[in-house]
Amino acid sequence: MTKQRLVILGGGESGVGTALLGKAKGYEVFVSDKGKIKEKYKQVLIHNEIEWEDESHTESKILNADIVMKSPGIPDKVELIKQIRKKGISVVSEIEFASKFTEATIVGITGSNGKTTTATLTHHILKEALNVGLAGNIGDSFAKQVLEEDFKNYVLEISSFQLDDIIDFKPNIAVLLNITPDHLDRYDYKFENYIKSKFRIAMNQTKDDYLIYDADDEVIVEHLKNNPVQSTLLPFSLVKPIKNGAYLDNENIRLTINNNEIIMPTAKIKLEGNHNTKNAMAASTVAHLLKIRKQTIRESLENFQAVEHRLEEVLKINKVQYINDSKATNVNATYYALESMSAPTVWIVGGVDKGNNYEELFPFVNEKVKAIICLGVDNEKLMNTFGNMVDVIIETQYMQEAVKIAYKLSESGDSVLLSPACASFDLFENYEDRGRQFKDAVRNL
Ligand code: ADP
Repeated sequence: MTKQRLVILGGGESGVGTALLGKAKGYEVFVSDKGKIKEKYKQVLIHNEIEWEDESHTESKILNADIVMKSPGIPDKVELIKQIRKKGISVVSEIEFASKFTEATIVGITGSNGKTTTATLTHHILKEALNVGLAGNIGDSFAKQVLEEDFKNYVLEISSFQLDDIIDFKPNIAVLLNITPDHLDRYDYKFENYIKSKFRIAMNQTKDDYLIYDADDEVIVEHLKNNPVQSTLLPFSLVKPIKNGAYLDNENIRLTINNNEIIMPTAKIKLEGNHNTKNAMAASTVAHLLKIRKQTIRESLENFQAVEHRLEEVLKINKVQYINDSKATNVNATYYALESMSAPTVWIVGGVDKGNNYEELFPFVNEKVKAIICLGVDNEKLMNTFGNMVDVIIETQYMQEAVKIAYKLSESGDSVLLSPACASFDLFENYEDRGRQFKDAVRNL
């Protein structure tokens, strides 16, 4: 029998992982990347005798594929993808491809914000009792772990781009954290398309599978009403009682599944802010479903530290708390950051604005923000939007300067918050680079 030809577009973590898995499973594999493939990935490909190219796509080696795995970063509108589809070649994402080769229980976590935090927290709870891997945007790719680790359970962080190219993939437990406008450039600027993409997480689920979701999110609730799913629903809420699922009862999370209840005081949860209470509800619901002991769930919530760059407490200097929330690349994430601030705040904001509407931040800015430092190449929109709301608004293009200014403007008891609400690519390599520069600047004060 001739080998099936697997062509992988994109030689990053998920691409190279898929290449290894594909080769092991008997495919003829070819990896092609329009950009430069990182040296460490090249070495892996060479070492494993997998054919590859970078800085070009050779069509004759691609259009003869039986199956194409496309990196989530490549949009559908690219000419090559159109050609591939026109030829009737099946285009899949890494999770679709890799899930075919595992019998593991899969927890799939999606949403506009909170995926990494909730996936990491869920893994943190489950690993106490289960053989479980964590993948998707975090560490080793899912495909590589399926090949090398063969875990019995996986917690997967899943973006809408990954979901766009699934066919049969179905998580046994799906988590849909929230849906707010993001990445609209990839969805013809139609929010509806992005919503549909997120709901693909449940599209292959049956009543034996679970969908955990935020019952306070109007977008989710409305869509579910008009497009019912087969999944067994387990909602969570901060504002109303939930019979089967989780809700906030005074200062306690009450979580019930089939009459089996767990109560957890929120005061003991290490992660702060309402958004993190929701993330904790979602993660505990998964753990309760997978029969983790109540005591283990409680203890795990109590000792889980914030993930780097997500409301990460950096240092206290002269009784001023410096907080790194560089991962807040949209307004909704910054909304929760400002909401969770209890002290007067010097706020560092700015970068590449993806069509932001800042209105929902106004009440918090009026109430809590004493000064704004705009950190971007183009700060005009921020200066115009917030200029009249605070006494001091300053702009700069340098992180070190931003931190120095924040240091001068803050007084004992204040907080300095980096929560940009924007992408980082104008001044930084990525959000990690932005967060690290912030932390370095704070440590050098
Ligand atoms: P993602 O992986 O979806 O980008 P992260 O966990 O990396 O999510 O968090 C991204 C940003 O969103 C951070 O600024 C974080 O503080 C904030 N955030 C975390 N959870 C939520 C949530 N449930 N709703 C809104 N914002 C959140």
